[in-house]
Formats: sequence, C-alpha cells, structure tokens
Amino acid sequence: MTLLTVENLTVAFPGRRGTVNAIEDVTLSVSPGEILGMVGESGAGKSMTGAAIIGLIEPPGGITQGEIRLEGDRIDNLRPEAMRRIRGRKIGAIFQDPLTSLNPVLTVGEQLIETIQTHLKLSKADARERAIDWLRRVGIPAPEARIDTYPHQYSGGMRQRVVIALALCAEPRLVIADEPTTALDVSVQAQIIALLRRLARETGVAVILVTHDMGVIAETADRVAVMYAGRIVEVGSVAEVLTAPKHPYTSGLMASIPRIGPRPDVLAQIEGAMPRPNARPEGCAFAPRCPHKMDICLQQRPKLEGSEEKSVACHLIEEVSV
Ligand code: SF4
Repeated sequence: MTLLTVENLTVAFPGRRGTVNAIEDVTLSVSPGEILGMVGESGAGKSMTGAAIIGLIEPPGGITQGEIRLEGDRIDNLRPEAMRRIRGRKIGAIFQDPLTSLNPVLTVGEQLIETIQTHLKLSKADARERAIDWLRRVGIPAPEARIDTYPHQYSGGMRQRVVIALALCAEPRLVIADEPTTALDVSVQAQIIALLRRLARETGVAVILVTHDMGVIAETADRVAVMYAGRIVEVGSVAEVLTAPKHPYTSGLMASIPRIGPRPDVLAQIEGAMPRPNARPEGCAFAPRCPHKMDICLQQRPKLEGSEEKSVACHLIEEVSV
C-alpha cells in the first residue's frame, strides 16, 4: 500500500513580475518502510517539496496546484492547527542543523517527553521510559543519565541522534530528513546514515531523504527522485538510476559517487548553472547545459513518463527507447 502520494504539486511565490513557481508538477509516492531519496542542486526544489509535504511553506508562498495524500487522506488543504497535529504524530522532521531542532534551555529528556506526551496518551513516567528507550535505540550511551543533560553537552553527531529520536518518538509513519548529515563531520555522516536505514527497517517508517549528495543516496535510499529546476527529471530504484542513469542531468550528478561528504552545490562536469525559478527557459530547463539537446528541447517541456519503477522527463528517451 502507498503511504504518501503527491500529485502534480506546484508551489508558487509572488514575485516582482508575477507568480514564480518554486516547484512544478511534482508527482511521487512513498511506501511504508521505504527510503525515497530526493537529490539535486541547491534550489532544485527538493527541500521545497519536503516543506510542502510537512505543511511548512512560508506565506506568501503556497500550494497552487495538485494534492498531497497521507494514508489516503488529503493533507495539503488542512488548517494550520490540524497540520500541526499531523506533524510529529504522523510526519516527523529531521533538519540539517540539529541545533535548530533542539531547544537549548530544555534538557533532552524534557523535549522528548513533551513530544511524546503531545502525541501519545502516556503518563510522565511512561513517557520518560519511552524517551530513555529512544535514546538507547539511536545509540546514545548511558541514556538514563544523558536524558537529563542539555543539547550543548552533546557532540554534533550525538545531537543529530537526539533529533532523530525526537522525530521518531511519537511513531510517525513518515519522516522528512532534509540534509540530515550535511552539517556533520564526514566520519559521523556514515553512522547517521546507517542509523536512519536501520530505524526505517525496524520501525517501518518511510523516509524522504533530501540531499545534494548522490553518495548519501547510494548508501541509504531504495528509490531516488532527481530534481532539476523545480521538477522531477528522473525517478527509479537506486540500483537502476545509479547504474544506468537515463537523464543527462542524472548522468552528470553521478560523478559524485561513491564519496560521502560535503560537496559544492555546482556540478563541475556540467557547464553552466541551473536557471533561477523566474528565468526558466520555455522548453527543457536543462537544455542550456545539455550536450544532447535537440530542436524539440527548446520548444517543448518534456513530461515525466514511464512506469512506477522508472520514469524520465527527457525527449532523448522518447526518441531512442520507446
Ligand atoms: Fe537534454 Fe533535451 Fe533531454 Fe532536456 S529534453 S535533458 S535538453 S535531451
């Protein structure tokens, strides 16, 4: 059964010369226990897609088209209060910088217990037991003692483990993890990735993993959606997309594998830069950088076409393989 479906989602912001689409026509689905990687350069729309799913698009931006369904129910048109209840209880979030997710003046235990009691009917003592159990599950040593310490008493990697515990402690069905390892030392990144993978397997939670790093995708995700200039250009199983990328942009991204670590948000192997949302060309947004562009690419925007397992938005694919 599908847990989350996003259909033809467009998010727009008012600009100086009219509305600007941050993401356009994004369609994807996630099953329970699945890790879907969303990869692309900075500004491609991957974080915006995650923010839309979790109901955190900052006004005056908003969803102008499409719908988002969680377990069959629409969540894109809920009132802020209803969406707040879904966040934490059904959808958890892990962001790049653990310090932004943690309150520095509350102990780790206070934050975990508050989250647990907000979403689950448990006594304080039971919530504390559960919090200790979650700290143990995410690999915090001596959790019975560490639960009463403050975030600044943890290393960066340990803090991110606490954030993962916070995101998962109310047993959500889906977690949005936005660049969860980017702010961490390279040696810690692999541990956090392994932890996310293990917890997804153990708990059955689905994860949307937003990252600019194909190496992280290769290590963690089951499927991957590649975003460029606000659209998904290729989606498929990690094994297939990594070994046989079909979209010229995906092929360019592949040079980042297998190294995991901080990378510049530019693709050294592809000339040029991604167009800004208000300056996207009429046809394929990748055309100015694409070594394979054809006349049709300048006139017609390619649609994402294919099967559930594998879809690509490129006129080249239509020409050679259909
Ligand atoms: Fe290149 Fe054309 Fe495919 Fe765009 S549609 S990626 S320009 S071949």
